[in-house]
Amino acid sequence: MLTLQQRPIRSASLDSRPGAIVIGSGFGGLAAGVRLGARGYRVTIFEKLDAPGGRAAVHRQDGFTFDAGPTIVTAPFLFEELWTLCGRRMKDDVDLRAIDPFYQIRFGNGDVFTMSGDEVAMRAEVARFDLRDVSGFERFMRRSEAIYRIGFEELGDAPFSSFAAMARIAGHLVRLEGHRSVYGLVSKYFRDERLRTVFSFHPLLIGGNPFRASAIYCLIPFLEKRWGVHFAMGGTGKLVAGLAGLIASQGGEIRCGEEVRSILVEDGAARGVALASGETVPASVVVSNADSAWTYRHLVPTASRTRWTDRKIDRARYSMGLFVWYFGIDRRYGDVAHHTILLGPRYRQLLRDIFDRKRLAPDFSLYLHRPTATDLSLAPEGCDAFYVLSPVPNLEGGQDWRIEAERYRKAIEQSLEATVMPDLSRHIVTSRIATPLDFQDQLNAYRGAGFGLEPTLTQSAWFRPHNASEDVRNLFLVGAGTHPGAGLPGVLSSARVLDKVAPHASVFV
Ligand SMILES: Cc1cc2nc3c(=O)[nH]c(=O)nc-3n(C[C@H](O)[C@H](O)[C@H](O)COP(=O)(O)OP(=O)(O)OC[C@H]3O[C@@H](n4cnc5c(N)ncnc54)[C@H](O)[C@@H]3O)c2cc1C
Repeated sequence: MLTLQQRPIRSASLDSRPGAIVIGSGFGGLAAGVRLGARGYRVTIFEKLDAPGGRAAVHRQDGFTFDAGPTIVTAPFLFEELWTLCGRRMKDDVDLRAIDPFYQIRFGNGDVFTMSGDEVAMRAEVARFDLRDVSGFERFMRRSEAIYRIGFEELGDAPFSSFAAMARIAGHLVRLEGHRSVYGLVSKYFRDERLRTVFSFHPLLIGGNPFRASAIYCLIPFLEKRWGVHFAMGGTGKLVAGLAGLIASQGGEIRCGEEVRSILVEDGAARGVALASGETVPASVVVSNADSAWTYRHLVPTASRTRWTDRKIDRARYSMGLFVWYFGIDRRYGDVAHHTILLGPRYRQLLRDIFDRKRLAPDFSLYLHRPTATDLSLAPEGCDAFYVLSPVPNLEGGQDWRIEAERYRKAIEQSLEATVMPDLSRHIVTSRIATPLDFQDQLNAYRGAGFGLEPTLTQSAWFRPHNASEDVRNLFLVGAGTHPGAGLPGVLSSARVLDKVAPHASVFV
C-alpha cells in the first residue's frame, strides 16, 4: 500500500478540503464517508482488511460468490439517500429486488410459517396456525407500526448526546412498553407458542435476546412490511461496491490493508490517526466505524477516557457470537426458499445457553441463505450457493473454536440433511467457515461478538457509546456498537446522526 506521500496523483496537498478520517469500511463507515464527503471533507477511509465491506465482505471461491454477512436489505431508502447526496440514482448502480414472501420459518416438527408483506396472506397464515390469534395479529401489527413511528422515524437518527434527550423519550418508552421484552409484548397478542416465536425472534437479527431486548424492537415486523425485504442482484457486495464508487466520485479514497493502531488525541480533541505501518495521518475529524468497545479499549488512549473506561467496557454485555458456514453444492435444492429460518426444539432455553450460560448447545436454530433462489449468477450452472448461520456464545464462553469448528459444522450439515437438504453431504464442492474467533481476529470485534454491544434497554440510546464521543472532541462513532445499533438500517442511521453532531467542513477552513 502506498503512503500518502508516495501517491502520484491528486496528492492531499493539492486538495485543500479539511480532512476527515474514517476507521473501517463497514456499511456505517462507507455511509459516513459519503455523508462527510457531501459536507465538504476530503475523506480517507482506512480499512484493516484487503477489501471494503467489513461484515458485508464478499468471498469468491471455486466459482461461487458468498456474501459474508447481511443479505436481508430493509429500508432501502437509507441507501438511496446516499446516492441522492452525490446527485446520482442508486438504481443505475445496484439492482435491488423485492423478495416476497420474505422468508419461511420452519419448526422442528415440519410446520412452516411463511412471512410476507401481504396482509391477506399473513392473516390466512396466522389463522392456519391458530384462528383465535388473527385479531391479536392485527392489533400487534398496529402496535408494531406505532413503535416504528417513534422508535425508527423519530429516534433512529436522533443524537442522544445528553441525558436530557433520554429523559425526553422516557414517556414514549413507558407508553410503548419499552420496559417489556420483545417476547413479553408479543405474548400479549398471541396465544399460540409458535406464533409467539414467529413474531418475537427478530432481535436475533441484530444481536439481541428476544427475552430481554426492549419491546421497542417490535418495530421490525412493521419495518419489513412498510419497506419490504430486498436483495441486491449480484449480492450485497454490489451495495458495498456502489458506495465505494460514490466515495471515489467525491474525491475520497479507501485505503485497504491499513490498520489504524491509535487515534491521536491532543488537548482533548482527535487530531488524526497512527497506522500500524508507522505512518501518522492528520485530520480535522475522526470517525470510528470499528467496533465501539474496540475503539475505546484499543484505539483511544486510556488517559483520554473518563466515561468509556476499561472497566466499563469489560462489564458491558456483548451480543452473541455467530458461526457461519458458507458452502457451494453441485446440485440445486429448488424447494429451499431464499431465506429460511430453521427452528430447533428449544427457544427460551437455547437462548439462555447462548446468551447467559455461554454454553455451546447440541441443538441449534439456523438461518439458511440460498441467494441462488433469486440470482443464478452467484454459482456455476446447475449449482447452489448457501450460507447457514447459527447463533453461538461469544468468546466469553471460552470455546476453543480451532477444535470445535469442524465438529459443529458437521452437526449442522447433518441437521440440514435430515430436514431440508437430503443427501447434502454428497454434493458439497466448496466450503469455508467463520467463528467468533474470526470476528475477533479479522474484524476487531470485541469478545468476538457478532453485533457489538447487546441491544438491551440499559445499553441503548444515551446508554450506548454516543455518536459524538463523550470522551474526545471531534471523534465520532458509527456502526453497530453505537446508536441506534446493528443491522443495515441501524448502521446507516448511525451515519445519518453524523449530519447532526459533526461540524460542517467549512468550520475548519
Ligand atoms: C453473518 C451476518 C449476517 C447478517 N445479516 C444481516 C441481514 O441480513 N440484514 C441486516 O440488516 N443486517 C445483518 N447483519 C448485521 C449487519 O451486517 C451489521 O450490523 C453491519 O453490517 C455492521 O456494519 P458496521 O458499520 O458496524 O461495520 P462492520 O461491518 O463491523 O465493519 C467494521 C470495519 O472496521 C474495520 N476495522 C476494525 N478495526 C479497524 C482498525 N483498527 N483499522 C482499520 N479498520 C478497522 C473492520 O475490518 C471492518 O471492516 C448480519 C451480520 C452478520 C455478521
